[in-house]
Amino acid sequence: MADSNDRINETKESWLKSATLQTGFSRERVIELLQEKFQKFHIGKAPEMMMFLMDVRDHEETQAMLEKQDRLKQVPDCPICGALAIRDTRWDGRHTKTKGWTCTKGGLDHWMQWRANNIRRKQGLDILYPEVNRDDSTSDPEKLPA
Ligand SMILES: [Zn+2]
Repeated sequence: MADSNDRINETKESWLKSATLQTGFSRERVIELLQEKFQKFHIGKAPEMMMFLMDVRDHEETQAMLEKQDRLKQVPDCPICGALAIRDTRWDGRHTKTKGWTCTKGGLDHWMQWRANNIRRKQGLDILYPEVNRDDSTSDPEKLPA
């Protein structure tokens, strides 16, 4: 009896090992996912379990990729210095519908400077802070497409 239990455990262990290798998930994550879906390990369901794990991984990879694309695409580069700007919903304009961001180089300062410039622009005044990449069609989210 102990022998066959050992063999089952051995099979289970080697399957778990290949599952972690194929999915990139940790052993704990694999076990957790399988417990949720299949309650317990069953060698007869090994291919089904592997398929399930791969599906979960594919789904997560797609989600992560979409989120990354979203983050990168949602706001143009920093108009002040040209560095990558990261979407930051804390600074969304409630009335202007401006998408908030912070600069990866200048942080919030560049956001504030750009906002100050926009106010000056609306008033027909010269901007206070020099800007780069002044392509109005892409760098100014407040500007509506023609
Ligand atoms: Zn900047």
